[in-house]
Amino acid sequence: MKPEAASEQTEPRCANIITRPVSWSAAHGDTQFSLQEHGKGPQNVRTRRGTGRPASAVALSLSAGDDFLLQPADRMRTFPEITAHFCIEDGFCYPDWRAIWEWMEANVPEGERDAAWTAAARAWVHRNRDALGANYQVHETKNFLILAEAPPRIMRDACKAFEASLESMMERLEGIISDEGQGKHVVMMFGMLRDYYRYLSHFFRDGEHPMSGGMCITSSGYVHFAFPTADYSCYRTALVHELTHACLVHLPIPLWLDEALAMRMEQAVCGTPTFDLDREVFDKHRAHWNEETIQEFWSGKSWSIPGDSFDLSYNLAQVLWRKIEVDLGATRAEVVEFVTHAHAEDAGNAACDAVFGMSLGDLAADFLGEGAWEPKLSGAKLS
Ligand SMILES: [Zn+2]
Repeated sequence: MKPEAASEQTEPRCANIITRPVSWSAAHGDTQFSLQEHGKGPQNVRTRRGTGRPASAVALSLSAGDDFLLQPADRMRTFPEITAHFCIEDGFCYPDWRAIWEWMEANVPEGERDAAWTAAARAWVHRNRDALGANYQVHETKNFLILAEAPPRIMRDACKAFEASLESMMERLEGIISDEGQGKHVVMMFGMLRDYYRYLSHFFRDGEHPMSGGMCITSSGYVHFAFPTADYSCYRTALVHELTHACLVHLPIPLWLDEALAMRMEQAVCGTPTFDLDREVFDKHRAHWNEETIQEFWSGKSWSIPGDSFDLSYNLAQVLWRKIEVDLGATRAEVVEFVTHAHAEDAGNAACDAVFGMSLGDLAADFLGEGAWEPKLSGAKLS
Protein backbone atom coordinates (compact mmCIF):
# COMPACT_ATOMS: atom_id res chain seq x y z
CA MET A 1 0.00 0.00 0.00
CA LYS A 2 0.95 3.62 -0.26
CA PRO A 3 0.86 5.12 3.23
CA GLU A 4 1.64 8.54 1.84
CA ALA A 5 -1.66 8.52 -0.01
CA ALA A 6 -3.59 7.84 3.16
CA SER A 7 -4.69 11.38 3.82
CA GLU A 8 -6.14 11.95 0.41
CA GLN A 9 -9.84 11.39 0.16
CA THR A 10 -10.22 12.17 -3.48
CA GLU A 11 -12.57 10.29 -5.68
CA PRO A 12 -11.07 7.14 -7.14
CA ARG A 13 -9.76 7.84 -10.57
CA CYS A 14 -10.25 5.56 -13.38
CA ALA A 15 -12.07 2.67 -14.21
CA ASN A 16 -11.10 -0.35 -15.89
CA ILE A 17 -12.04 -1.20 -19.37
CA ILE A 18 -14.38 -4.10 -19.61
CA THR A 19 -14.62 -6.19 -22.71
CA ARG A 20 -18.22 -7.23 -22.38
CA PRO A 21 -21.36 -5.13 -22.27
CA VAL A 22 -22.68 -4.26 -18.85
CA SER A 23 -26.41 -4.61 -18.74
CA TRP A 24 -27.17 -3.50 -15.24
CA SER A 25 -27.87 -0.17 -13.75
CA ALA A 26 -27.09 0.28 -10.13
CA ALA A 27 -27.79 2.70 -7.40
CA HIS A 28 -26.74 2.84 -3.82
CA GLY A 29 -27.90 5.55 -1.48
CA ASP A 30 -27.51 8.87 -3.20
CA THR A 31 -24.83 7.56 -5.50
CA GLN A 32 -25.97 6.61 -8.96
CA PHE A 33 -23.93 4.54 -11.35
CA SER A 34 -25.17 5.11 -14.84
CA LEU A 35 -25.42 2.47 -17.48
CA GLN A 36 -22.64 2.32 -20.01
CA GLU A 37 -22.55 0.07 -22.98
CA HIS A 38 -19.08 -0.84 -21.95
CA GLY A 39 -18.56 -0.52 -18.27
CA LYS A 40 -15.51 1.06 -16.89
CA GLY A 41 -15.13 2.88 -13.73
CA PRO A 42 -13.25 4.72 -11.24
CA GLN A 43 -9.91 3.64 -10.13
CA ASN A 44 -7.06 4.15 -7.75
CA VAL A 45 -4.67 3.26 -4.32
CA ARG A 46 -2.27 0.37 -3.91
CA THR A 47 0.52 -1.37 -2.31
CA ARG A 48 3.48 -3.41 -2.14
CA ARG A 49 4.79 -6.75 -2.22
CA GLY A 50 5.10 -9.38 0.45
CA THR A 51 8.35 -10.60 1.85
CA GLY A 52 6.98 -13.98 2.68
CA ARG A 53 7.38 -13.43 6.38
CA PRO A 54 4.55 -14.91 8.40
CA ALA A 55 2.41 -12.24 9.95
CA SER A 56 2.45 -14.03 13.26
CA ALA A 57 6.19 -13.52 13.50
CA VAL A 58 5.67 -9.80 13.41
CA ALA A 59 2.85 -9.86 15.91
CA LEU A 60 4.88 -11.87 18.35
CA SER A 61 7.85 -9.58 18.03
CA LEU A 62 5.80 -6.65 19.23
CA SER A 63 4.73 -6.04 22.74
CA ALA A 64 1.39 -4.55 21.86
CA GLY A 65 -1.67 -6.68 21.55
CA ASP A 66 -0.34 -10.01 20.50
CA ASP A 67 -3.13 -11.57 22.49
CA PHE A 68 -5.64 -10.48 19.90
CA LEU A 69 -6.62 -13.50 17.95
CA LEU A 70 -8.49 -12.54 14.81
CA GLN A 71 -9.12 -15.85 13.11
CA PRO A 72 -8.15 -18.90 15.16
CA ALA A 73 -8.48 -21.17 12.16
CA ASP A 74 -6.06 -19.05 10.19
CA ARG A 75 -3.65 -18.61 13.06
CA MET A 76 -3.67 -14.93 12.41
CA ARG A 77 -2.79 -12.36 14.96
CA THR A 78 -3.05 -8.64 14.65
CA PHE A 79 -3.03 -5.73 17.02
CA PRO A 80 -5.92 -3.95 18.68
CA GLU A 81 -4.04 -0.72 17.94
CA ILE A 82 -4.71 -1.50 14.29
CA THR A 83 -8.18 -2.98 14.44
CA ALA A 84 -9.26 -0.02 16.56
CA HIS A 85 -9.03 1.95 13.32
CA PHE A 86 -11.26 -0.44 11.39
CA CYS A 87 -14.33 1.66 10.63
CA ILE A 88 -17.51 -0.18 9.71
CA GLU A 89 -19.86 1.42 7.21
CA ASP A 90 -22.87 -0.35 5.74
CA GLY A 91 -21.36 -3.62 6.95
CA PHE A 92 -18.03 -3.18 5.14
CA CYS A 93 -14.71 -2.45 6.80
CA TYR A 94 -12.91 0.74 5.71
CA PRO A 95 -9.76 1.14 7.81
CA ASP A 96 -8.39 4.55 8.68
CA TRP A 97 -5.07 3.86 6.99
CA ARG A 98 -3.60 7.20 7.97
CA ALA A 99 -4.03 6.37 11.66
CA ILE A 100 -2.68 2.86 11.08
CA TRP A 101 0.28 4.26 9.17
CA GLU A 102 1.12 6.59 12.06
CA TRP A 103 0.94 3.68 14.51
CA MET A 104 3.11 1.53 12.27
CA GLU A 105 5.73 4.27 11.94
CA ALA A 106 5.88 4.71 15.70
CA ASN A 107 5.74 1.08 16.79
CA VAL A 108 6.91 -1.31 14.10
CA PRO A 109 10.60 -1.66 13.24
CA GLU A 110 11.22 -0.73 9.63
CA GLY A 111 12.31 -4.21 8.66
CA GLU A 112 9.05 -5.69 9.89
CA ARG A 113 6.62 -3.23 8.37
CA ASP A 114 6.00 -5.11 5.16
CA ALA A 115 4.77 -8.15 7.06
CA ALA A 116 2.90 -5.92 9.50
CA TRP A 117 1.07 -4.23 6.64
CA THR A 118 0.17 -7.61 5.22
CA ALA A 119 -1.13 -8.67 8.63
CA ALA A 120 -3.26 -5.52 8.79
CA ALA A 121 -4.52 -6.10 5.27
CA ARG A 122 -5.29 -9.72 6.06
CA ALA A 123 -7.38 -8.69 9.05
CA TRP A 124 -9.20 -6.08 6.96
CA VAL A 125 -9.97 -8.52 4.16
CA HIS A 126 -11.27 -11.09 6.63
CA ARG A 127 -13.57 -8.49 8.15
CA ASN A 128 -15.04 -7.89 4.71
CA ARG A 129 -15.33 -11.61 4.14
CA ASP A 130 -17.44 -11.79 7.27
CA ALA A 131 -19.57 -8.95 5.92
CA LEU A 132 -20.17 -10.71 2.61
CA GLY A 133 -21.09 -14.11 3.99
CA ALA A 134 -19.91 -17.65 4.26
CA ASN A 135 -19.61 -18.20 0.53
CA TYR A 136 -16.66 -15.83 0.38
CA GLN A 137 -13.15 -17.01 1.11
CA VAL A 138 -9.75 -15.36 1.40
CA HIS A 139 -6.99 -16.79 -0.76
CA GLU A 140 -3.37 -15.84 -0.29
CA THR A 141 -0.43 -16.11 -2.67
CA LYS A 142 3.09 -14.74 -2.55
CA ASN A 143 1.99 -11.26 -3.61
CA PHE A 144 -1.82 -11.21 -3.34
CA LEU A 145 -4.63 -11.40 -0.82
CA ILE A 146 -7.78 -12.30 -2.75
CA LEU A 147 -11.32 -12.11 -1.41
CA ALA A 148 -13.71 -14.00 -3.65
CA GLU A 149 -16.83 -16.04 -3.96
CA ALA A 150 -15.76 -18.45 -6.67
CA PRO A 151 -15.43 -22.18 -7.26
CA PRO A 152 -12.06 -23.75 -6.38
CA ARG A 153 -11.16 -24.26 -10.05
CA ILE A 154 -11.62 -20.53 -10.69
CA MET A 155 -9.57 -19.55 -7.69
CA ARG A 156 -6.76 -21.96 -8.54
CA ASP A 157 -6.56 -20.32 -11.94
CA ALA A 158 -6.93 -16.80 -10.55
CA CYS A 159 -4.12 -17.27 -8.02
CA LYS A 160 -1.77 -18.56 -10.71
CA ALA A 161 -2.88 -15.97 -13.26
CA PHE A 162 -2.45 -13.03 -10.91
CA GLU A 163 1.10 -14.00 -9.98
CA ALA A 164 2.01 -14.69 -13.61
CA SER A 165 0.46 -11.40 -14.73
CA LEU A 166 2.44 -9.41 -12.20
CA GLU A 167 5.67 -11.07 -13.30
CA SER A 168 4.86 -10.49 -16.97
CA MET A 169 4.02 -6.85 -16.40
CA MET A 170 7.23 -6.24 -14.48
CA GLU A 171 9.20 -7.56 -17.45
CA ARG A 172 7.24 -5.74 -20.13
CA LEU A 173 7.27 -2.37 -18.39
CA GLU A 174 10.68 -2.63 -16.77
CA GLY A 175 12.00 0.81 -15.99
CA ILE A 176 8.50 2.26 -15.80
CA ILE A 177 6.33 0.43 -13.33
CA SER A 178 7.13 -0.28 -9.73
CA ASP A 179 5.85 -2.91 -7.36
CA GLU A 180 7.53 -1.35 -4.38
CA GLY A 181 5.41 -0.88 -1.32
CA GLN A 182 4.34 -2.57 1.83
CA GLY A 183 1.70 -5.23 2.30
CA LYS A 184 0.36 -7.59 -0.31
CA HIS A 185 -1.85 -6.58 -3.21
CA VAL A 186 -5.47 -6.85 -2.10
CA VAL A 187 -8.05 -7.99 -4.65
CA MET A 188 -11.76 -8.03 -3.88
CA MET A 189 -13.80 -10.01 -6.40
CA PHE A 190 -17.52 -9.45 -5.88
CA GLY A 191 -19.93 -12.12 -7.06
CA MET A 192 -22.88 -9.75 -6.92
CA LEU A 193 -22.87 -6.42 -8.72
CA ARG A 194 -24.89 -4.81 -5.94
CA ASP A 195 -22.21 -5.76 -3.39
CA TYR A 196 -19.53 -4.31 -5.68
CA TYR A 197 -21.28 -0.95 -5.91
CA ARG A 198 -22.21 -1.05 -2.24
CA TYR A 199 -18.51 -1.36 -1.40
CA LEU A 200 -17.50 1.35 -3.90
CA SER A 201 -20.09 3.89 -2.77
CA HIS A 202 -17.85 4.76 0.19
CA PHE A 203 -15.26 6.20 -2.19
CA PHE A 204 -17.58 8.36 -4.28
CA ARG A 205 -19.21 11.66 -3.69
CA ASP A 206 -22.96 11.69 -4.15
CA GLY A 207 -23.91 12.13 -7.74
CA GLU A 208 -23.79 10.30 -11.02
CA HIS A 209 -20.76 8.23 -11.97
CA PRO A 210 -19.96 5.96 -14.88
CA MET A 211 -20.47 2.29 -14.17
CA SER A 212 -17.29 0.34 -13.90
CA GLY A 213 -15.94 -3.09 -14.68
CA GLY A 214 -13.29 -2.75 -12.00
CA MET A 215 -11.38 -0.24 -9.96
CA CYS A 216 -7.96 0.38 -8.61
CA ILE A 217 -8.80 2.29 -5.43
CA THR A 218 -5.97 4.62 -4.49
CA SER A 219 -7.86 7.07 -2.34
CA SER A 220 -8.37 4.84 0.67
CA GLY A 221 -4.73 4.84 1.76
CA TYR A 222 -4.14 1.19 0.85
CA VAL A 223 -4.20 0.70 -2.90
CA HIS A 224 -6.46 -2.22 -3.69
CA PHE A 225 -8.56 -3.65 -6.47
CA ALA A 226 -12.26 -4.35 -6.68
CA PHE A 227 -14.24 -5.78 -9.53
CA PRO A 228 -17.41 -7.75 -10.15
CA THR A 229 -17.08 -11.35 -11.28
CA ALA A 230 -20.63 -12.32 -12.08
CA ASP A 231 -19.59 -14.82 -14.72
CA TYR A 232 -15.81 -15.08 -14.23
CA SER A 233 -15.29 -14.16 -17.88
CA CYS A 234 -12.74 -11.42 -17.55
CA TYR A 235 -11.21 -11.38 -14.10
CA ARG A 236 -7.70 -11.71 -15.58
CA THR A 237 -8.01 -8.66 -17.81
CA ALA A 238 -9.69 -6.72 -15.02
CA LEU A 239 -6.80 -7.52 -12.68
CA VAL A 240 -4.10 -6.71 -15.25
CA HIS A 241 -5.75 -3.39 -16.07
CA GLU A 242 -6.03 -2.32 -12.44
CA LEU A 243 -2.66 -3.75 -11.48
CA THR A 244 -1.05 -1.60 -14.17
CA HIS A 245 -2.61 1.48 -12.60
CA ALA A 246 -1.36 0.41 -9.20
CA CYS A 247 2.19 -0.09 -10.48
CA LEU A 248 2.13 3.36 -12.11
CA VAL A 249 0.86 5.17 -9.04
CA HIS A 250 4.35 6.48 -8.21
CA LEU A 251 4.47 8.44 -11.47
CA PRO A 252 2.65 11.80 -11.95
CA ILE A 253 1.44 10.79 -15.39
CA PRO A 254 -1.75 12.13 -16.98
CA LEU A 255 -4.84 9.93 -16.83
CA TRP A 256 -4.98 9.39 -20.60
CA LEU A 257 -1.51 7.85 -20.53
CA ASP A 258 -2.30 5.82 -17.41
CA GLU A 259 -5.37 4.36 -19.14
CA ALA A 260 -3.54 3.79 -22.41
CA LEU A 261 -0.86 1.73 -20.67
CA ALA A 262 -3.42 -0.25 -18.67
CA MET A 263 -5.27 -1.19 -21.86
CA ARG A 264 -1.99 -1.96 -23.63
CA MET A 265 -1.05 -4.36 -20.83
CA GLU A 266 -4.44 -6.08 -21.20
CA GLN A 267 -3.50 -6.77 -24.80
CA ALA A 268 0.08 -7.76 -24.10
CA VAL A 269 -0.48 -9.94 -21.04
CA CYS A 270 -3.96 -11.35 -21.64
CA GLY A 271 -4.14 -11.27 -25.41
CA THR A 272 -7.33 -9.22 -25.52
CA PRO A 273 -8.25 -7.90 -28.97
CA THR A 274 -7.00 -4.54 -30.08
CA PHE A 275 -9.41 -1.67 -29.79
CA ASP A 276 -12.46 -1.06 -31.96
CA LEU A 277 -12.11 1.73 -34.44
CA ASP A 278 -14.54 1.66 -37.30
CA ARG A 279 -16.22 4.44 -39.24
CA GLU A 280 -19.01 4.78 -36.70
CA VAL A 281 -16.61 5.18 -33.80
CA PHE A 282 -14.48 7.60 -35.79
CA ASP A 283 -17.55 9.72 -36.56
CA LYS A 284 -18.36 9.78 -32.87
CA HIS A 285 -14.87 11.10 -32.17
CA ARG A 286 -15.22 13.81 -34.80
CA ALA A 287 -18.60 14.84 -33.38
CA HIS A 288 -17.53 14.84 -29.75
CA TRP A 289 -14.08 16.38 -29.53
CA ASN A 290 -13.74 20.13 -29.92
CA GLU A 291 -11.66 22.95 -28.46
CA GLU A 292 -13.38 22.60 -25.06
CA THR A 293 -13.90 18.86 -24.71
CA ILE A 294 -10.33 18.03 -25.68
CA GLN A 295 -9.17 19.95 -22.60
CA GLU A 296 -11.39 17.66 -20.51
CA PHE A 297 -9.55 14.74 -22.07
CA TRP A 298 -6.10 16.14 -21.33
CA SER A 299 -7.05 16.97 -17.73
CA GLY A 300 -8.74 13.62 -17.15
CA LYS A 301 -12.13 15.16 -16.41
CA SER A 302 -13.68 13.47 -19.45
CA TRP A 303 -13.44 10.09 -17.67
CA SER A 304 -15.86 11.22 -15.00
CA ILE A 305 -18.56 12.26 -17.47
CA PRO A 306 -20.92 9.37 -18.30
CA GLY A 307 -21.83 8.76 -21.92
CA ASP A 308 -19.78 9.33 -25.06
CA SER A 309 -17.17 11.35 -23.14
CA PHE A 310 -16.36 8.32 -20.98
CA ASP A 311 -16.25 5.73 -23.76
CA LEU A 312 -14.46 7.91 -26.30
CA SER A 313 -11.82 8.92 -23.77
CA TYR A 314 -10.65 5.32 -23.48
CA ASN A 315 -10.68 4.93 -27.22
CA LEU A 316 -8.78 8.16 -27.88
CA ALA A 317 -6.17 7.20 -25.29
CA GLN A 318 -5.65 3.94 -27.16
CA VAL A 319 -5.43 5.75 -30.49
CA LEU A 320 -2.76 8.13 -29.18
CA TRP A 321 -0.74 5.31 -27.67
CA ARG A 322 -0.97 3.33 -30.88
CA LYS A 323 0.35 6.35 -32.78
CA ILE A 324 3.30 6.57 -30.40
CA GLU A 325 4.10 2.87 -30.45
CA VAL A 326 3.31 2.02 -34.07
CA ASP A 327 3.23 5.16 -36.21
CA LEU A 328 6.17 6.85 -34.50
CA GLY A 329 7.88 3.52 -34.02
CA ALA A 330 8.94 4.46 -30.50
CA THR A 331 11.86 2.45 -29.19
CA ARG A 332 11.75 0.88 -25.77
CA ALA A 333 14.15 3.56 -24.49
CA GLU A 334 11.92 6.32 -25.87
CA VAL A 335 8.83 4.81 -24.27
CA VAL A 336 10.58 4.64 -20.90
CA GLU A 337 11.85 8.21 -21.32
CA PHE A 338 8.41 9.53 -22.26
CA VAL A 339 6.37 7.75 -19.59
CA THR A 340 8.79 8.49 -16.76
CA HIS A 341 8.88 12.19 -17.65
CA ALA A 342 5.24 12.77 -18.62
CA HIS A 343 3.45 14.95 -16.09
CA ALA A 344 -0.27 15.45 -15.55
CA GLU A 345 0.18 19.21 -15.23
CA ASP A 346 0.70 19.52 -18.98
CA ALA A 347 -0.85 16.17 -19.98
CA GLY A 348 2.64 14.97 -20.89
CA ASN A 349 3.06 17.53 -23.64
CA ALA A 350 6.59 18.65 -22.76
CA ALA A 351 7.79 15.05 -22.50
CA CYS A 352 6.15 14.20 -25.83
CA ASP A 353 7.86 17.13 -27.49
CA ALA A 354 11.23 16.33 -25.92
CA VAL A 355 11.19 12.64 -26.78
CA PHE A 356 9.29 12.52 -30.06
CA GLY A 357 9.77 16.04 -31.41
CA MET A 358 6.07 16.70 -31.69
CA SER A 359 3.32 18.00 -29.42
CA LEU A 360 0.30 16.10 -28.18
CA GLY A 361 -1.80 18.48 -30.25
CA ASP A 362 0.06 17.36 -33.37
CA LEU A 363 -0.44 13.74 -32.35
CA ALA A 364 -4.17 14.28 -31.87
CA ALA A 365 -4.43 16.18 -35.17
CA ASP A 366 -3.14 13.13 -37.02
CA PHE A 367 -6.33 11.39 -35.95
CA LEU A 368 -8.90 14.14 -35.45
CA GLY A 369 -7.78 16.43 -38.26
CA GLU A 370 -6.60 20.00 -37.92
CA GLY A 371 -7.90 21.77 -34.85
CA ALA A 372 -7.11 23.40 -31.53
CA TRP A 373 -6.03 20.21 -29.80
CA GLU A 374 -3.06 21.45 -27.78
CA PRO A 375 -3.29 20.93 -24.01
CA LYS A 376 -3.97 24.23 -22.24
CA LEU A 377 -3.82 23.07 -18.65
CA SER A 378 -2.87 25.42 -15.88
CA GLY A 379 0.80 25.08 -15.10
CA ALA A 380 1.44 23.66 -18.54
CA LYS A 381 5.07 23.48 -19.44
CA LEU A 382 4.78 23.88 -23.16
CA SER A 383 8.03 24.34 -24.93
ZN1 LIG B 1 -8.29 2.22 -15.95
